[in-house]
Amino acid sequence: MLRETAEMPAADVLTADTLIVGGGLAGLTLARELAQAGQQVAIFESGGTTIEPALEALNDGVTRLHGPDGQQRNLGAYLRESRCRCLGGSGNLWGGKCAELDPIDFEHRRWINHSGWPFSYEDFKPYLDRACFVMEIPVFNRQAAIDPDDPRAPLSINTERVITTGLRRYSAIAGKAPQNHFARFVRDIAHLPGVTICLHATVVELLSDPDKAGTITSLRIKASDGQFITARGQRVVLAAGGLENARILLTGGRNGRPLGSNPDLIGRYFMGHVMYRQTTESPPTNTLELDISAEHLRLYLDKDPTQPQGTLQLARRAQKRYRLPNTSITLEPRDATSPSVPVFFMSEQQPNPESCVTLDENCDANGIRRLCLDWRFTAADFAGMAQAVELMGAELEDAGIGRLNCTIDQQRLVTWADSARHHMGTTRMHEQPSQGVVDVNCRVHGQEGLYVVGTSVFPTGGISNPTLSIIALTLRLADHILVR
Ligand SMILES: Cc1cc2nc3c(=O)[nH]c(=O)nc-3n(C[C@H](O)[C@H](O)[C@H](O)COP(=O)(O)OP(=O)(O)OC[C@H]3O[C@@H](n4cnc5c(N)ncnc54)[C@H](O)[C@@H]3O)c2cc1C
Repeated sequence: MLRETAEMPAADVLTADTLIVGGGLAGLTLARELAQAGQQVAIFESGGTTIEPALEALNDGVTRLHGPDGQQRNLGAYLRESRCRCLGGSGNLWGGKCAELDPIDFEHRRWINHSGWPFSYEDFKPYLDRACFVMEIPVFNRQAAIDPDDPRAPLSINTERVITTGLRRYSAIAGKAPQNHFARFVRDIAHLPGVTICLHATVVELLSDPDKAGTITSLRIKASDGQFITARGQRVVLAAGGLENARILLTGGRNGRPLGSNPDLIGRYFMGHVMYRQTTESPPTNTLELDISAEHLRLYLDKDPTQPQGTLQLARRAQKRYRLPNTSITLEPRDATSPSVPVFFMSEQQPNPESCVTLDENCDANGIRRLCLDWRFTAADFAGMAQAVELMGAELEDAGIGRLNCTIDQQRLVTWADSARHHMGTTRMHEQPSQGVVDVNCRVHGQEGLYVVGTSVFPTGGISNPTLSIIALTLRLADHILVR
């Protein structure tokens, strides 16, 4: 059921088993899982059913992008433009590109500081498969035999010593997908028995249970008419996106202190992707000059969203041998008559406590302090991407596939990196409260009843589009809540 919060009597206390902050893909998926198991669920969504500029302004803040040599760039409206305050969240804007994180992304790698998830890819795989079901795409099968007669078969280069193929599939459950099933997805969840979605409901405070210190069970919510309402449940889940999850924890509870047992960690370890994608100049300077027929590269070149698509990816063996970050080369749309294909590169950004979001002195229209993002790329981020690209370029040439023409210039990173709209790591997951904001079950360390889900809990970000993994984490959290 959809409800307008301003029409609810302010004196009433809304109750449900689980209170979810945020009606994006994560919040909606969680509500569906819990409601289908018989729970009463309430979602509080800051936006309405359509995008409203006044509400988008709640996302405004300052973003400074710092390059390895001390260069700095103010990213202007990045915080507003890279997400959405509306039922469905950034799902209204996303293109639906789905990818699995790679097995190596979950491992502790000595050459990537703070790397390692508290569970393995194999542990996570059943949830990734279920997430594919939610996104209505086929599951990813890494063991599938390659049919050499398939015109979209992945390249097989030198037994995957340096280069392998990363697969992406498109979900139609996306506001920007050509066959957009997003509205149906949202509507079906809103009408499930047991689900209440409160619109124009901005959560401004998390409230402790007066009888149980350290247990969060209630929310204070501001409606669009300025009235406040209260909601009470057995637990609260923050599903407000990769940045707002941190903002809500930093804003804290009634006494204004940040929540959790180690507040200093909240907002740190912000990661985007190390995107090296030409956005400003034309013609493209980063290209792959093909030495083979484009027919052999259909998986990588053909951008039909109904078909799987490939990226060239640094193989696990090479990552380990050369101590490099996960990295990909993506072939972009091209003039079909030309042997020159524009390309872009993407590496994982290494977790760095100095790359962070904090609260600004300025407040939004609800009186909540705005975010200030200091997004920092280090020399190691740049060098890792550059070495990986060089290695892959040499391999492509040796294999007779093509020659990579590119200028890898540190200065460009600050110009081009903002095309990444993936906000990760700000409430990172770790078993130890000294090293993570949430535990292995997404529960905030030191805080009973309070959970966080979304990219903010990613300990490392890999090079995959993150939403499939968000959905998988959400399904895992739903299972945890239901067996407790
Ligand atoms: C242009 C664009 C293209 C993208 N393309 C892709 C892609 O192809 N593949 C991919 O994997 N990812 C892509 N992404 C990223 C993807 O959209 C997000 O990772 C995903 O939608 C995040 O879902 P979420 O539910 O965790 O958070 P969100 O979508 O951010 O949802 C959070 C919700 O919480 C609400 N909220 C926030 N604060 C409060 C509060 N205090 N009280 C109540 N509600 C609140 C917000 O209004 C929002 O609806 C793209 C993003 C953009 C912007």
